[in-house]
Amino acid sequence: MKQVYAALNPTEAHLVAGLLEQEGIPSTVRGDALFTTVDGGGAVLGMRPTVWIGNPEQETAAKALIARYDRGEILAHPEDAPWICTDCGEHHDPPFTSCWRCGAERPH
Ligand SMILES: [Zn+2]
Repeated sequence: MKQVYAALNPTEAHLVAGLLEQEGIPSTVRGDALFTTVDGGGAVLGMRPTVWIGNPEQETAAKALIARYDRGEILAHPEDAPWICTDCGEHHDPPFTSCWRCGAERPH
């Protein structure tokens, strides 16, 4: 296992892991449950959720992909993409800016 990314929050960690999976790089998120236990306590160094890959030989490809993500080259236009309500999990098409089911605002 090799750590390739330290995310700001569990959502970002899973987003990055999903990007890696899309590129054929198996990955797992660690520390997201731990993060939940310190919710409200602010960011604690060493307790940020991290993304790990199973094959160290894919580290270069994984970091290149993450670098593109950090520069905004991936998901540069999230408003054009379908989204999922963070409150109730409902799936939505791009034109909707709030959840038709529970009324929550679209996450940014
Ligand atoms: Zn909703």
